[in-house]
Amino acid sequence: MASDCLFCRIVAGEIPSDQVYADDDVIAFRDIAPKAPVHVLVIPRRHLDSIADLGLDDASLAAALVNAANEVARREGVVESGYRVVTNVGSDAGQSVGHLHLHVLAGRRMAWPPG
Ligand code: AMP
Repeated sequence: MASDCLFCRIVAGEIPSDQVYADDDVIAFRDIAPKAPVHVLVIPRRHLDSIADLGLDDASLAAALVNAANEVARREGVVESGYRVVTNVGSDAGQSVGHLHLHVLAGRRMAWPPG
């Protein structure tokens, strides 16, 4: 755990979150500033700066993240209507928290391409 990492502190329970899913490898909780009616963040319990740190040695963790995103969509009831899974890497992409996270967004029509 990185003690100065916001999401590590959420994993540790030091900062509260509205958790919607958890397993041995990942947790998912509602974004504090939602950009859609459903906006959930899926994060690994283990600290990684971004998806750029995921390699072939992390195949099971990558699968766990995708599985959790799909499970969140099922629990939120948006599988039929659709959902977007996105992850930002670095400053040009707008990453503001340096702990890998997948955004699961749903509940409204999404524009494409993203801004
Ligand atoms: P990104 O900008 O892609 O790094 O996404 C970071 C996301 O974390 C943003 O959508 C923020 O609204 C969200 N966020 C920041 N702090 C918290 C928090 N304490 N609990 C839940 N979501 C948060």
